Amino acid sequence: MKKYAKIHIECTSKKKEDKQVYKEFKDRMKKYLLDDVMELYRIPILSEDYEYAHELAEKYPSDRVDDTDECPGLYVRENRRIETDYTKKDYEQAAAYLVNFWYLAYLYEDIGVDEYEGTCCAQPKWNYATGIVQNTELQIPSAEFKNRKYAQLMKGYALGKEARDLLLEHELATEEDFQNVTNRKGGIVCYQLMPKNIIHGFTKDNNMKLVDKCEHCGMERYWYYEEPYYISQDTLNQLVGLNQTKEQNGGYFDEEIVRKNLENGEDMQTLLEPWYIVNKEVYTLLHKHYPRMQFIPIFLKEEKK
Ligand SMILES: [Zn+2]
Repeated sequence: MKKYAKIHIECTSKKKEDKQVYKEFKDRMKKYLLDDVMELYRIPILSEDYEYAHELAEKYPSDRVDDTDECPGLYVRENRRIETDYTKKDYEQAAAYLVNFWYLAYLYEDIGVDEYEGTCCAQPKWNYATGIVQNTELQIPSAEFKNRKYAQLMKGYALGKEARDLLLEHELATEEDFQNVTNRKGGIVCYQLMPKNIIHGFTKDNNMKLVDKCEHCGMERYWYYEEPYYISQDTLNQLVGLNQTKEQNGGYFDEEIVRKNLENGEDMQTLLEPWYIVNKEVYTLLHKHYPRMQFIPIFLKEEKK
């Protein structure tokens, strides 16, 4: 397992010292360059190069809220999310797997996203952003999914017929674990993962912080960004082939911004979704047929005796 940080640098400063620091950074970090136009670098965390870049990020913070501000200077910004690359051995040793398909399939452009969404319950009462959940079947154009075997949707993930049938044949899922995604004519385009088995404890296993909770229906929102993920034996025992967590995952907001918006009477909303977890059998089967299908390994948590 290897962890990476993404760091962005930008220099609009006219100062000689700033230009010098900028040039030094670019020379030293050349081998980590991800995107030249965006000046984005992906740097392994356990390296002296990372320490150097991290120090610069602290010294030249980029706290501008939007990019339209014209404020010349040298800015180094470290992405909040740490990325982790796993080895083959990590995947073999994992106890369960988080669904993480990268290929995106988009909904019809002329149907507003809010037509698929609604509040968590009839009388939502959250402290910060109101939790929004998908409340109807998704519709996507057939051409959007085409011959794909799987994809990430606006919310959640979908399998094509072939991959879904593979799981059904092996009795690792039932039809009730999926919700149809249709086109406008009502034809089935793909099958959204909607596992009937709802597990609890995954957020606790990972010491995730409870960000907010609906006082009316009790829905909990967590935020987490630090891998690797762990699962306790208790939680693992609840797994069947396809699973979703009871706890919900919502977007990150700067608390300061949320507070200001609330004071100005602006309502904030966040789309919530569970974590989708598959057991080892499902992973092994899908990986055998679709070697490039993306998952994040979840490791068994050592219990303290
Ligand atoms: Zn609610």
